[in-house]
Amino acid sequence: MADRVVTLNAGSSSVKFALFAADAEWPRLIVSGAVDGLGARPRFRVAVVDGEASEKQLAAKLTHRQAIAMIFEWIEDAYPVAAVSAIGHRVVHGGLRFAAPVIVDDETLVELRAFVPLAPLHQPHNLAGIEGAREAFPQVPQVACFDTAFHRGHAFVDDAYALPYSYYERGLRRFGFHGLSYEYIARRLREIDPIHAEAGVVVAHLGNGASLCAMKGGRSVATSMGFSALEGLPMGTRCGQIDPGLLLYLLQSEAMTAEELSRLLYERSGLLGLSGVSHDMRALEASADPRAAAAIAYFIHRIKMEIAALAAVIGGLDALVFTAGIGERSSRVRAGVVEGLAWLGLALDATANARNDLIISTAQSRIPVFVAATDEEAMIARHTIETAGLSAMAR
Ligand code: ADP
Repeated sequence: MADRVVTLNAGSSSVKFALFAADAEWPRLIVSGAVDGLGARPRFRVAVVDGEASEKQLAAKLTHRQAIAMIFEWIEDAYPVAAVSAIGHRVVHGGLRFAAPVIVDDETLVELRAFVPLAPLHQPHNLAGIEGAREAFPQVPQVACFDTAFHRGHAFVDDAYALPYSYYERGLRRFGFHGLSYEYIARRLREIDPIHAEAGVVVAHLGNGASLCAMKGGRSVATSMGFSALEGLPMGTRCGQIDPGLLLYLLQSEAMTAEELSRLLYERSGLLGLSGVSHDMRALEASADPRAAAAIAYFIHRIKMEIAALAAVIGGLDALVFTAGIGERSSRVRAGVVEGLAWLGLALDATANARNDLIISTAQSRIPVFVAATDEEAMIARHTIETAGLSAMAR
């Protein structure tokens, strides 16, 4: 029987999982699911490819560990345990050390724990996923796949803050995130348009978290996120670009505590903070509140600015790709960005844009604009198959 791999993506309020078969050039999805709403009203949902989808409400609040145990019990019940050959994990931070996926042993786990202060909202859950999986499947290799790894090759000028050099040396740098998504899109673009895939491309990953990545030859050159997942674009609840002087003011003159400041920047800002309506783009687009429209306008404004800045880094823009929830489905946001960049040579095909087509630029557009679905799970599965040295067919 072909090798099977499980992927686990443990976020702040959900744990997503998927089961893939390693029997083809690219991992083949068998079933995907999630436990979401942890801490409030958790639900367990699964969807079998070409089969049934089901969803059930769970009675009580769950911890991440309990959700992970529940997922593995479900997998053990539904599929023969012996068939799981490796488990791949999304890990948000690999620090300076990890520029590629790695098989996790006790030592690696200690190293990954050291990055918790760098990503306090994500890394602990990711590591809980690894620990839970090791308990449930002690014989199976666990592979950590990092969101930062794709960006590790950046030049000094794209990696540094202009603090004293010793800060850079001790790793206070612009790490960048969403790397698994960007890596997937780089591969996908090679299928869609192999010529442009090698040129200067900006990818806009616009989900609840949002960032941009400038690539050349399918490799990351620069990205809008930095040391933390706060920098760059405004997001669902995160502020994006801000003057550090404003933070000093809040700490010093308004006596805000570090904890309050952290909640403000991560949970109360962005689209939610500006609109006072919602963090969710669908809700903002449906709202008649002028502040919802202003929040969307701000989002589009910052995306335009960042795309132009990244185009300067890679010496000009040859293609633009939209991905993730908003990028794949919000024709309004895409139209605002593309029309605002007409001066760069982008021309929008409004009909194609309204349909979420693969190509949303006109035939006359100097720069093609694509809409491509991201698939971080498949990217994790692919890395897991390779890193764990599974089935030659898949390599
Ligand atoms: P995450 O970063 O949590 O993985 P997603 O990539 O799923 O998030 O993106 C979630 C965002 O996508 C939300 O703001 C949601 O409103 C938005 N979105 C999803 N579908 C649509 C749609 N049809 N139109 C506009 N926005 C959408």
